[in-house]
Amino acid sequence: MSDEHLGHLRHLARSLRVEPGTRVRLPHGFDPGHTGGYVREADAAGALAAGVRLLSSYQARLAAQDSYGLLVVLQALDAAGKDGAVQHVMSGVNPQGVWVRSFKVPSADELNHDFLWRYTRDLPPRGVIGIYNRSHYEEVLVVRVHPENLERQHLPESARGKDVWERRLRGINDWERHLVENGIQVVKIFLNLSPEEQRRRLLARIDDPDKNWKFSAADLAERGHWHDYQRAYSDALTHTSTEAAPWHVVPADHKWFARVAVAAVIIDALAAIDPRFPELGPDEHAALETARAQLIAMKE
Ligand code: AMP
Ligand code: MG
Repeated sequence: MSDEHLGHLRHLARSLRVEPGTRVRLPHGFDPGHTGGYVREADAAGALAAGVRLLSSYQARLAAQDSYGLLVVLQALDAAGKDGAVQHVMSGVNPQGVWVRSFKVPSADELNHDFLWRYTRDLPPRGVIGIYNRSHYEEVLVVRVHPENLERQHLPESARGKDVWERRLRGINDWERHLVENGIQVVKIFLNLSPEEQRRRLLARIDDPDKNWKFSAADLAERGHWHDYQRAYSDALTHTSTEAAPWHVVPADHKWFARVAVAAVIIDALAAIDPRFPELGPDEHAALETARAQLIAMKE
């Protein structure tokens, strides 16, 4: 598929990719205020519109081909703009072709299974783009920052211990590789927000009555663990950015740029799949011609 914006968006996606084997130490080396060469929102508007168009077109081919699925993992700290990114980036896509699943605090039933169980139940099938708004990564993020979450998981002694995070990260890599080897591609996005911009957005949730519903005192408490989260994210990004399922760090202080970047990363993954409309063979073409002749003859 050719489009003047495609090359540019793919290049942008590549620039955000965490190359496998890189040691990530957030915030070092990642500027949340970066805008990828765009100066103002208006400069990026054309790229976002093109991104939305490309996504719609790729999704139609993905569905028609029905061989590959795409799992988009979206992770971030509170108020980084995950929901808004999903809303804007997917605005032009056929709703039948996209699934969005938000993962919250696990239920008692979910806690009674292995830590990946609940994330296997809503995987996108072939032909579908599935977005995980929070994901299996919470199992090495919030659960790591607040070990009391681990206590609730009914783990046997053999599944605990100091190396539990190392084992979980390995388990995640194995699971993602399994998905990719079976045609469910996995692409991972971390929306990287600065503490100052988070502070501003949380304040806006208090100041603007229409945003009051979004404010949660829990977000303020989590903000107090900022450095623990940076460490947990750094470790997860370092050990789980693989060739099969790479991470992308998207600068999130400017929502308008983050949205273009999220679109770019999803488009890059779809372009790599390169889904095609199925081509008909000679027999199928002949059957179509017969059907055409029959329909024409049926004219009242
Ligand atoms: P939100 O996405 O802001 O609506 O909040 C969902 C909440 O669920 C967040 O506070 C997450 O930290 C929490 N959460 C998500 N997954 C898990 C998990 N596996 N264990 C514990 N808490 C989780
Ligand atoms: Mg929240």
